[in-house]
Amino acid sequence: MYTQSRVHTTPPTPSGSHQPDLSVQNRITRIAPSPTGALHLGNARTFLINWAIARQRNWSIVLRIEDLDTPRVKPGVIERTIETLAWMGLDWDSGPIIQSESLDRHHGAMQSLAKRGLVYPCTLTRSQIEAAPSAPNEGDHETRFDASLRPQSVPDAFNDAGTNWRLIVNKGDITFDDAFCGTHSIDPSKTIGDFVVWTQRSCPSYQLAVVVDDHHEGINEIVRGDDLLDSTARQLTLMNALGYTPTAQYTHLPLVRGSDGRRLAKRHGDTRIDSYREHGTTQERLIGLLGFWSGITDTRTEMSINDFLEAFDLDTLPRKDITFTPEDDQWLIP
Ligand code: GLU
Repeated sequence: MYTQSRVHTTPPTPSGSHQPDLSVQNRITRIAPSPTGALHLGNARTFLINWAIARQRNWSIVLRIEDLDTPRVKPGVIERTIETLAWMGLDWDSGPIIQSESLDRHHGAMQSLAKRGLVYPCTLTRSQIEAAPSAPNEGDHETRFDASLRPQSVPDAFNDAGTNWRLIVNKGDITFDDAFCGTHSIDPSKTIGDFVVWTQRSCPSYQLAVVVDDHHEGINEIVRGDDLLDSTARQLTLMNALGYTPTAQYTHLPLVRGSDGRRLAKRHGDTRIDSYREHGTTQERLIGLLGFWSGITDTRTEMSINDFLEAFDLDTLPRKDITFTPEDDQWLIP
């Protein structure tokens, strides 16, 4: 067990404005699927757009499988996710990196946070405070952790990997410019409070894993769904606590939703790319739908990945979320 030997110090202030360093010539992005089930139409669109922007601008692409993001990865799902991306026509320059394969860096990051007095173990039960170890996708329930629940003193070493650990989050707005959504100011102490950085499953939370991995892999272009805007503020807070210089440009994209307005998920039926493939959907039909959803065409039209790449323009990407309709489904399975 840890020793509660240290009164926590004031962490570096999390507030401030984050400007990406675009002078860095070597732009590197990542395609980062979580192998939670299988790729569906919503994340396929995000990954396709990420890929197209990268190829248009000569960024290099790392494929990173975020298998820490889920408690149990079913056998074969990682391989299938990779195969499905390749079937769509996507390619990458390095990886796949399987996130769970090297946790030394994440342990090291926890040690460094503990040395600075910025993290503490938290054994409050789920019914008292809900731990949020995964990517907080929209629709997930999250409970804010109030500063009043913090212990009086914190240990100066990370010495119990089998419990949840939280980061001390001070008040203050985090401001960042998003290449698609514009300037955002978010105060994580208000939206989430002290969030979980290490989980009792003996692995880093989504937030810590992403920050440590992006830093290690030199990622400086992050393209993802806009349900993670709030996570960006948390990740900038964490980078600050770790002493990393934030260098990334963020591009958060609108989501695909079901007819009930909720983020596309299992509840909207089987929208997995694999299932459509089994029903005979061709790559051209799928890319055609994603192209239609990305403002490239006015009607659904079969499209090759190269046509998508040539025609895609972030400036004309619809600003509004997309609603998945029965017509879309019929287009894929005529
Ligand atoms: N693995 C996350 C997801 O598939 C993406 C996280 C990220 O891009 O930071 O939702």
